Amino acid sequence: MDLARIRNFSIIAHIDHGKSTLSDRILEVTGAVQARDMKQQYLDSMDLERERGITIKAQNVRVEWNDHTFHLIDTPGHVDFGYEVSRSLAACEGVLLVVDAAQGIEAQTLANCYLALEHDLEIVACLNKIDLPAADPDRYAMELENVLGIAAEDILRISAKTGAGVPELLDAVIDRIPAPTGDADAPLQALIFDSQFDQYRGVVSSIRVMNGVMNANDKLHFMQAGADHEALEIGARRPATTPMKQLGPGEVGYLIAGIKDVGDARSGETVTTMSKGADTPLPGYQDPKPMVFSGLFPIDGDDFEDLRDALAKLKLNDASISYTPESSGALGFGFRCGFLGLLHMEIVKERLEREFGLALIATAPSVEYRVTSTDGETTVVSNPAELPVVQKIDTIEEPVFKVSIITPKEYTGALMDLCQTRRGEMKRMEYLSPERVELDYEIPLAEVVVDFFDQLKSRTQGYASLDYELTGYQAAHLVKVDILLNGEPADAFSTIVHREKAETYGRRMCEKLKELIPRQMFDVPIQAAIGGKVISRETVKAKRKDVTAKCYGGDISRKRKLLEKQKEGKKKMKAIGRVEVPGDVFISALKLD
Ligand code: GDP
Ligand code: MG
Repeated sequence: MDLARIRNFSIIAHIDHGKSTLSDRILEVTGAVQARDMKQQYLDSMDLERERGITIKAQNVRVEWNDHTFHLIDTPGHVDFGYEVSRSLAACEGVLLVVDAAQGIEAQTLANCYLALEHDLEIVACLNKIDLPAADPDRYAMELENVLGIAAEDILRISAKTGAGVPELLDAVIDRIPAPTGDADAPLQALIFDSQFDQYRGVVSSIRVMNGVMNANDKLHFMQAGADHEALEIGARRPATTPMKQLGPGEVGYLIAGIKDVGDARSGETVTTMSKGADTPLPGYQDPKPMVFSGLFPIDGDDFEDLRDALAKLKLNDASISYTPESSGALGFGFRCGFLGLLHMEIVKERLEREFGLALIATAPSVEYRVTSTDGETTVVSNPAELPVVQKIDTIEEPVFKVSIITPKEYTGALMDLCQTRRGEMKRMEYLSPERVELDYEIPLAEVVVDFFDQLKSRTQGYASLDYELTGYQAAHLVKVDILLNGEPADAFSTIVHREKAETYGRRMCEKLKELIPRQMFDVPIQAAIGGKVISRETVKAKRKDVTAKCYGGDISRKRKLLEKQKEGKKKMKAIGRVEVPGDVFISALKLD
């Protein structure tokens, strides 16, 4: 294919500014999907994405416009998934920056733009939702010019909903985003920027050919993995997978090589040919650093190997997950997993349950602490159960984030209040415009991962936005709060918290657990303790009635149905000692405030 006729770009935006809707419209305007087949958010293929209305996995698709071939890569917008954005950008020469014409610049608008600039990508900016009565494109075009230096006159105005301005936007893509470069005669170098596991076909990878040509049935060499596989099928997503004979430089498509070992086709892998292959791989990606850790345990102990298998497959699709085996006195065998944030943790747990049919219990999330013992040795602890006894601890340091918040000015007070209660320290405050303020805080990560995002949204009616990055470690007075169920310490439920917050945390946790743990046949005391000293206590009262009593001893099938129903309800419970605990107890306990 003629390189000059290819354009590869991503759409970047703050969440809800209209990326997915614009992708839908592009599919329609270019005729890739007929209007009658159009369903909303066509590229958000995971059920989970549709239900939650957010994009989790980046998708790519090939469309034709005015004699040009576009590869369009949709990217996720939530802070937890920034890593996906970065990976997508490595396959592009440009980005479409979408900004809501009724909202203006938000925190992720800036963060994504900086990423695009870091990758030297051409930015085509547009203001979306001009059909809304509240849209004020003139004002926000000025804002974009002032804050990001994009000339106001170059900013397009569109409605992804009605399609207004979308053809002009596609013309601008051709005019302004550079064509890819690459040498068709050079040895093959193709970058894997995403992989998914398909039950029937094995690993399906998204690839961008940088140099050389990949032919169907080529014998391929995966350079970093050091493995060889045959290209059983290559092709493009239009958006249905469409097999092709070859993919040349600049082209984006998919590769199926019958790979069953998920380790062979990680994102960032360079693929070349076995004979006359390339000498050097392309620069890969750095695996992102997990920020939040939690134990995941199968509710049925027999599912441990299935969980291992599921994690390996999911990691292929989401390299940001890390996991190592862990055993717990209370929960048996499971895995200590690392996530990018709390939303990511929730999504991973839900995907493991839905896509792999597992029932899991997640323990209280924790960040990574640096613990220096009295004999001067420093270790990293991400599992509260592994914290040494108090007498042996000299200092505990916790990770600290730089959090930058953009908000309409009337919410400044409410946000300063929120940051204060989260042990935040203000670093900077700046007016972006007379109405909007940027606040920079340093806040311990542990205070950010739990519920901070939801609080920020609810205190500002959804108007404030957030971006964050790790800045370093800082010593703090931290203690371990243990939870005892029925008098037995449940090791997996221990949490490390700031001393000043330990009582409140213990009390709140006991109250929440009391709500969430169903009544058993006996009274269940729930206690929180620091170093053996109980600081809080609640009791789940025994249930009184036999559930079958309602059946008056009559209809036997009704009785059986009721028992079956009860059994089903129990499926998602984990027995800890004699106490049955629901699988999402910790996620729920931490979320409700
Ligand atoms: P994303 O999070 O950036 O992918 O945003 P979505 O595409 O999911 O859009 C977020 C919301 O904005 C959805 O309810 C869309 O229907 C709505 N939306 C997107 N584009 C437009 C537009 O041009 N006009 C109007 N009125 N609504 C839009
Ligand atoms: Mg979306």
